[in-house]
Amino acid sequence: MTKYVFTTGGVVSSVGKGIASAGLGLLLESRGLRIAMMKMDPYINVDPGTMNPFEHGEVFVTDDGAETDLDLGHYERFTSAKLSKKSNATTGSVYNAVIQKERRGEYLGKTVQVIPHITDEIKSRIHALTSGEDPADVAIVEVGGTVGDIESQPFLEALRQFRLDVGPENCCFVHVTLVPYIEASGELKTKPTQHSVRALRDIGLQPDVIICRTGTRRLEKEQRQKIALFCNVTNDAIINGEDISPLYAIPLNFKRQNLDGIVLRILGLEAPESDLAEWTAMVERLRAAPARVRIAAVGKYVGHDDAYKSINEAFVHAGIQNDCRVELTWVDSEHLEQEDAAKALESYDGILVGPGFGSRGIEGKIKAAQYAREHNKPYFGICLGMQIAVIEMARNKAGLAGAASTEFSPHTPHPVISLLSEQRGVQNLGGTMRLGQYRCDLKPGTLAHAAYGADVIYERHRHRYEFNNVYLDALTDVGLSVSGTHAVDIHTLVEIIEIKQHPWFCAVQFHPEFKSKPLNPQPLFRDFVAAALRCKAKRD
Ligand code: GLN
Repeated sequence: MTKYVFTTGGVVSSVGKGIASAGLGLLLESRGLRIAMMKMDPYINVDPGTMNPFEHGEVFVTDDGAETDLDLGHYERFTSAKLSKKSNATTGSVYNAVIQKERRGEYLGKTVQVIPHITDEIKSRIHALTSGEDPADVAIVEVGGTVGDIESQPFLEALRQFRLDVGPENCCFVHVTLVPYIEASGELKTKPTQHSVRALRDIGLQPDVIICRTGTRRLEKEQRQKIALFCNVTNDAIINGEDISPLYAIPLNFKRQNLDGIVLRILGLEAPESDLAEWTAMVERLRAAPARVRIAAVGKYVGHDDAYKSINEAFVHAGIQNDCRVELTWVDSEHLEQEDAAKALESYDGILVGPGFGSRGIEGKIKAAQYAREHNKPYFGICLGMQIAVIEMARNKAGLAGAASTEFSPHTPHPVISLLSEQRGVQNLGGTMRLGQYRCDLKPGTLAHAAYGADVIYERHRHRYEFNNVYLDALTDVGLSVSGTHAVDIHTLVEIIEIKQHPWFCAVQFHPEFKSKPLNPQPLFRDFVAAALRCKAKRD
């Protein structure tokens, strides 16, 4: 029988529910329990696939091709929970399912309502997460948004019912809330938390654990007692959740306060003691990293950390393996269009051109790739970053003036990157995204093969456009080599390109950042950072 932990948020959004849920997941796994994880998002978009990363942060992609909330990235980085399409439910997807059922006549003439039809659909999503052959011991379900919002009410009502359906003894409610510090009075204020717990109680939910986000401060004993008393929670279940760096040390702070033990007590579960030796050693190694390396990341959503969340984290992981701290500086590709590339980029030890859609800033990215190629700077291209490297070589090495991707130049004389349908001269294959995990065969003797140490790998995709094989010979003649491919019926898709006559130049059509974990860094990120360290050593 699966037990359930529900995480809600109080007072403000972005209070850290995702990390708290993922951190608790890690602690439970460290005690030998198998966990499942899920995020419920109250927004009306069916999935975040079409949302602007600047507003909503990155779109995280699972193996099975679901476009999901970035919190799922935290779940995968902290735990080994298997995530899939089942792991993210939005208000839009819930209503969509209910409306489709209504159109099929499945409600047999009944009036379709929020209660019970929407709430039933929400409950069925939670059951679907834990219904398979080998269900998890504990499912952790995070509810996005803030308690008190109109949007999250159906979800909270569904949880109230769910608790009764499966038995209160099988559920634990964790409320993550802000406890602000008021400078003038020199105090942490517990009142907003009391109000937010009252709002939860109005819906019929009582938190069992409260994680207090207190900024750089910690709650004193009296403040904990006060929250416990007013919010009807045991003293030991008021957890100090002060800001902690690095991120990966947060679960260790929870562990010191026995968060896992308290949750197990509430759920009536027994489990062996935690083994966090490897995780602790990783955090120590990260903290102690002696070297520094500077990478320029060229993109258009700069100034918003969450827009490239997984890439940022993959660099932290790669740094751990190389005993260095990676200083990632986001360089605005649009600015770069007006600037001298050498001036803007020469102080960095490596250059990354990351994913992106649309035409803004493209020429700046091409300049960055050209600078890296011509000046022997390690270059790592991800998705659009591979397409950019191909366009750059086509224009500047292969003499294909005006070469481009049909995404931003539909009438280019040399469509070196284009839709598969355009390449085959077929219309109805459409411009649908290639999403999720695909096989990639690696060529021995290449950077990619050396990095992965394998002949076959699987990585996740999220793009429409592809390398155009019509230009394969023209490009290989001028030094581009293909080190990874995916075979689909008669077509071979180019997935990885490299330049042999270069210290480290590798670009991939997939998104390697989605599978990087702190204990298991992604091999290409790891080797790119190692190459950047060599580049730095040479310059020093
Ligand atoms: N816009 C490009 C495409 O659709 C690249 C997408 C990406 O970088 N994720 O193919």
